[in-house]
Amino acid sequence: MASLPWRRHRKKDIPGEVFARCPSCDDTIYAKDLDDRMKVCPKCDHHFAISSHLRIAYTVDPATFRELDLGMTSVDALDFVDNGKPYDQKLVDSAAKTGVREAMRYGVGHIEGHEVVFGTLEFRFMGGSMGVVVGEKVTRAIELATDRRLPLILVAASGGARMHEGILSLMQMAKTCSALARFREEGGFNISICTHPTTGGVTASWAMTADVIIAEPGALIGFAGPRVIEGTIKKKLPADFQTAEFLLEKGQVDMIVPRMEMRTTLAQLLAYTRVERHGQPQEPGATGGGSQRPTSGDDPSAERGSGPRDAAHTNGGPRTNLGRPPA
Ligand SMILES: [Zn+2]
Repeated sequence: MASLPWRRHRKKDIPGEVFARCPSCDDTIYAKDLDDRMKVCPKCDHHFAISSHLRIAYTVDPATFRELDLGMTSVDALDFVDNGKPYDQKLVDSAAKTGVREAMRYGVGHIEGHEVVFGTLEFRFMGGSMGVVVGEKVTRAIELATDRRLPLILVAASGGARMHEGILSLMQMAKTCSALARFREEGGFNISICTHPTTGGVTASWAMTADVIIAEPGALIGFAGPRVIEGTIKKKLPADFQTAEFLLEKGQVDMIVPRMEMRTTLAQLLAYTRVERHGQPQEPGATGGGSQRPTSGDDPSAERGSGPRDAAHTNGGPRTNLGRPPA
């Protein structure tokens, strides 16, 4: 029997991108609803992994981001072969898949009018792993923020150091932290945003070295995986171990901020540093001449772990260990 016309065409007529399934609550979500909510599940608030392109679009003011060092690419210094595939081929494949040349992207842009140096990892590019180029681009972002006296915001999403570059990858931990030390000496103010997952050498270097450490809800943040730790200390770890929520409780992160509130929260923190520096709020984009940063004594991280919990904790807003910055 011939298929009815609607039957025959039904499958073909539904584009594959119309619906998405939430990996957390298993609900089927209309893709447009997911897009409207910055890829956050409307049922359970699960934060879907997003590309660096969306991260920039969701965080930085439209048409203000000027990306730098786009063409910088890694080299296969060790002739490394991973599961039968040469590293340099993996680099080519990752670039084709993601549309970027490496796992780190940075540049200058505005967040609700505040000029910042902004960088983000691209997790789809070899798991956001940090090799020489990622380390170099992070360092350049830090040095640009130091030289231009701009706040620095870096977003982490990483499996850690890139094994394909061996010790050269591990050296990036020291290199980025050295640059951050100089940034700090010069009075720099930086914010780290840890998204799912932030692990290994990225956690152990620049992602956890910031004035304010923000996490997205539910993000896995840690150095070694729980199995390795359990095997070492011979103890069962808590079920929520290494989640953003667990780390907020322990004072390891300062705030948990839902993605849809990230831009506004960043703008509040950036405004707060201006208030600390100038004693009164300034219009975003105003050039005060000289540093827009707090002095080391004004470091808002000074209260980390001991400040009052934000009242917004109970209504789905940002959860924080910091005092509330002035609106
Ligand atoms: Zn869900």
